[in-house]
Amino acid sequence: MTGPKASARALVIHAPRDLRLDAVAVAAPGPGEVAVRIAAGGICGSDLHYYHHGGFGTVRIREPMVLGHEIAGVIAAVGAGVDGLQPGDRVAINPSRPCGTCRYCREGSQAHCLDMRFYGSAMRFPHVQGGFREMLVCESGQALKIADAISLGEAAMCEPLAVCLHAVRRAGPLIGKRVLVTGCGPIGALCALAAHAAGAAEIVATDIAGATLDAVARLGVATTLNTGADPDALKPFEADKGAFDVMFEASGNMKALTGALAALRPKAVIVQVGTGGDFTLPISVLVAKELQLRGSFRFHEEFAMAVDMIGSRRIDVRPLISATLPMDRAAEAFDLASDRSKAMKVQIAFPA
Ligand code: ZN
Repeated sequence: MTGPKASARALVIHAPRDLRLDAVAVAAPGPGEVAVRIAAGGICGSDLHYYHHGGFGTVRIREPMVLGHEIAGVIAAVGAGVDGLQPGDRVAINPSRPCGTCRYCREGSQAHCLDMRFYGSAMRFPHVQGGFREMLVCESGQALKIADAISLGEAAMCEPLAVCLHAVRRAGPLIGKRVLVTGCGPIGALCALAAHAAGAAEIVATDIAGATLDAVARLGVATTLNTGADPDALKPFEADKGAFDVMFEASGNMKALTGALAALRPKAVIVQVGTGGDFTLPISVLVAKELQLRGSFRFHEEFAMAVDMIGSRRIDVRPLISATLPMDRAAEAFDLASDRSKAMKVQIAFPA
């Protein structure tokens, strides 16, 4: 059958390590909506936090929630008044749904929307259900057509790439800059690729896990250093008050940030992309070197940029997709995605 059906299977988290394939209702697309047969879904760090711990920080699952926000698929049906999309179109889905009317949306800071409904997020209650499901009905503006040449798995990388394109824009111009990336998971790897595309002269990437460093080394855009095996690996960059103009901190680990401060030159920009618990920072160093610590959170217009850059393969994400498992092996996929010695980006394949 090609049209939407009344129910679809979805990957629902009920409690830590209680991930189930449940039936969820699927309505026909209303005016301005499309029904998308989801084909690929990438497992993100936040999905893993829900899977292992039931949430992160103060965000906790309080009701069953469909996981997933890195998704792509094929249009199955379109509602009334939808232009430019038709059944059969291959699309990347933007999981971000800012309200469009609050003060932050009006000023162009949609990531800070006061009424954000981001897929697969327990930040608000009722939770916003996610995209790991056979069929999804969304607003037509969330579905962006992708290039014929790329796979739907590549298209599902648009969301994490958009996060990293936003981080790169938070850093300011990178042309000719020396860049440090700490943390070589999918976000660190995509930050390295995005910094390279933005004209960085030199990129050094660090991690404490050898396998992820090998994966980033194979991308060919960064020199990699194992700061776990060699805690002094950044020492050569500390001369003359430091070498790096920009740092992307993608590990969420305080030691990655504090351990790199001496390698940052005065006035360097630190873009904190990874998130975690509380950090303790030597403020005297930030003050004396006039370091600029900037957070980076989600994205808005960068999603369409990611669709273009992946579509043209100006950023080739294929080497980062390390495994694809069918949805009925989702628990295995989540466990694999949690194993940094084996996995970069793990994706779930939904039945056609
Ligand atoms: Zn808003």
